[in-house]
Amino acid sequence: MELTTNVMKYWLVTADEKMQTHKEYLSELDQAIGDGDHGHNMARGFQVAAENAKESTEEDIGALMKAAAMTLISKVGGASGPLYGTAFLKASDKWKGKTSLSKDEFAEGLEAAVEGIKTRGKAEAGSKTMLDVWTPVLDYVQHHDIAAPDVSAKAKESMEQTESMKAEKGRASYYGEESISHIDPGAYSSYLLFEALAEALDK
Ligand code: ADP
Ligand code: MG
Ligand code: MG
Repeated sequence: MELTTNVMKYWLVTADEKMQTHKEYLSELDQAIGDGDHGHNMARGFQVAAENAKESTEEDIGALMKAAAMTLISKVGGASGPLYGTAFLKASDKWKGKTSLSKDEFAEGLEAAVEGIKTRGKAEAGSKTMLDVWTPVLDYVQHHDIAAPDVSAKAKESMEQTESMKAEKGRASYYGEESISHIDPGAYSSYLLFEALAEALDK
């Protein structure tokens, strides 16, 4: 497996397409256990990140992903912007100076991303957040050769499992028991992100 700069660009572009397509649904999920803006937040951030990636002549994967991180931090309001931004920023540091990534190098970046989300959000997996998708996907990537359909399946299954969880972080935690039987919006957008990765890998 080889993740080139072009694959990473395609990842961002595909992630944007998915955020636009599922914008309303993401906001619906957030209406149930938050303030209803998650689709809007994701769509706005990824649109600009993808536009910049498309126009960029940058070969360095670290620099490419750092630019995306800065866009997400500055353009996306709410909790998710800084969290996604921090994830991309931490990963970009590991990928600095590289024009292609081995599976292990990719996993190293993903691990830093997950650590970044945990530190920034003061959360762990199990609190019904995006971490409930990022953490199992990281674990999968660390322990397997990445096969695109499996990355996508792992992300989907993990997203679905947030439905029965009780939220302990972010706005959804204000809903207490009522947060149960709703999929976490950030888990769904993270599933879209990793589905986009799987498509980029398969291209
Ligand atoms: P806001 O809640 O500020 O309106 P969004 O609606 O864009 O922001 O994002 C909400 C999502 O952010 C949640 O569904 C959850 O996945 C994620 N999230 C919120 N707080 C945390 C946290 N402390 N740690 C990890 N993820 C979090
Ligand atoms: Mg919200
Ligand atoms: Mg909000």
